[in-house]
Amino acid sequence: MLTREQWTEKFVDVIAHASSQLPPDVVTALRRGRELESPGSLAAKALDSILTNIEMAKGNWQPICQDTGTPIAWIHHPVGMSTRMLTAAFEEAVRQATAKQILRPNAVDPLTEKNTGHGQAPGIPSVHCEEADAPDVEVHLILKGGGCENVGAQYSLPNAKLKADRDLEGVRRCILDAVQQAQGKGCAPGIIGACFGGDRGSGFVESKRQLLRRLDDHNALPELERMEQEIFKQANELGIGPMGFGGKTTVLGVKIGHLGRLPASYFVSVSYMCWANRRAGARISPTGGVQWLD
Ligand code: SF4
Repeated sequence: MLTREQWTEKFVDVIAHASSQLPPDVVTALRRGRELESPGSLAAKALDSILTNIEMAKGNWQPICQDTGTPIAWIHHPVGMSTRMLTAAFEEAVRQATAKQILRPNAVDPLTEKNTGHGQAPGIPSVHCEEADAPDVEVHLILKGGGCENVGAQYSLPNAKLKADRDLEGVRRCILDAVQQAQGKGCAPGIIGACFGGDRGSGFVESKRQLLRRLDDHNALPELERMEQEIFKQANELGIGPMGFGGKTTVLGVKIGHLGRLPASYFVSVSYMCWANRRAGARISPTGGVQWLD
């Protein structure tokens, strides 16, 4: 079994991977968007800059964006492993990654308004440990930028303004409204992670967990698969485009999950992820072998 210090080393590698390399499905979606935009348009130029930036970061193991975001990790661990140890190891990994300039010092105490200087504070990183029936540890990480976090939205249905009732059509209206309201802020083209049901807290957590999915995967539930495809098409017809410059590439993907709800509540939680969809996954064996996951 690895020691806590060894787990920290492994987690630093996962953070470095996420910070400097975008998953291939995201790069493919950005390239596809670039092909759709008119040559010479602001949209095409914005996507060209993004694609160049991705290549430079990858070659140099440099952060893809100056805002290295909030690290949000899901750690699946074997029965009996200490979640306190894993969480502490991940927090230390964030401090070490910040010291190595893999991450920006990105944690501010809102009471004193002082930056902690080491990237870690209560709630940062956000670590979710879940027990699993497997001998290995699986860690899945997103680094979620502040700009895109600012344009996330939560709706309580029914919503008279959107004519959104407590049904799938109401959910669709809310998600599309969140994209419309963002207007390219949060560094479009974005990826939409959404959840309907849950409470105000669990809904947002699940909406972020949806961002772990590959852009080219398919929802196991046919009605949600249909809704993901429909919103993807409709969002890209809004004309908002990369960075709000206008164009055909407003979102790269839409991923929707759901949770149980109280009879009295019906929330739709929408998390917006910028084009810098930094996502990394690794399976780590008890002896330290690492297998990278898509
Ligand atoms: S929203 Fe994303 S791409 Fe934009 S500045 Fe923040 S991290 Fe960077």
